[in-house]
Amino acid sequence: MLIVIKSHQEIELMREAGKIVAETLARLERAIRPGVTTGHLDNLARKCIKSCNAQPAFLGYHGFPASICASINEEVVHGIPGLKKLKDGDILSIDVGVYYKGYCGDSASTFPVGEVSPLALKLVQVARDAFYQGFAHACPGKYLQDISSAIQNCAESHNFSVVRNFVGHGIGSQMHEEPQVPNYGVPGKGVQLQEGMVLAIEPMVNEGTWEVETLGDNWTVVTKDRKLSAHYEHTVAILENGPEILTSL
Ligand code: MG
Ligand code: MG
Repeated sequence: MLIVIKSHQEIELMREAGKIVAETLARLERAIRPGVTTGHLDNLARKCIKSCNAQPAFLGYHGFPASICASINEEVVHGIPGLKKLKDGDILSIDVGVYYKGYCGDSASTFPVGEVSPLALKLVQVARDAFYQGFAHACPGKYLQDISSAIQNCAESHNFSVVRNFVGHGIGSQMHEEPQVPNYGVPGKGVQLQEGMVLAIEPMVNEGTWEVETLGDNWTVVTKDRKLSAHYEHTVAILENGPEILTSL
């Protein structure tokens, strides 16, 4: 397993890529409302990314047909944007990846559409909290699964579950690099973290079972019990003094 360690200059470029991802997600958040199609959001994202002289990283990735993933309610990840209209009470997970000057940024968030149920709102908040619980362990000298177990503990302490079949990942000049970053694990296990590693930490938290399946479009991943799922992801650099979120404004 080869983990590519990034120089300060490379991390600076990844900060620029990350900023474009964050701007795109912020632009999309402002456009989310009942009646809007996920295809419209995809168009907005592509324009936003192009206007920053960046490339959408997902478009054409293993044949993926769009610039963002848009996953509604029981859809976990990899939903294909299209004619589907958002409804009041939905939760929408949007995942954005870009390439800029040879480096990648990757971030996702789940947004409430209109007025959502208290349970849906809690799930969205727990996915975000789980990310920050994991993020706090992304320090030199810690172990990879310190991040994983913190995420798992956070989700399970609220009686939610974490997806096993999809995981976070190293990121750099490639969107998916080593190591894999599971959202479950045992403290002290896995590789020791060191300065210059960059990880996409991305809890996928389910209301019910952790089990998922892929729909007939060969992309959209849904919960097996069709209960809700929320996703929260940032690209995180492990620096001497601790972790930094690169996909922030
Ligand atoms: Mg992502
Ligand atoms: Mg990712």
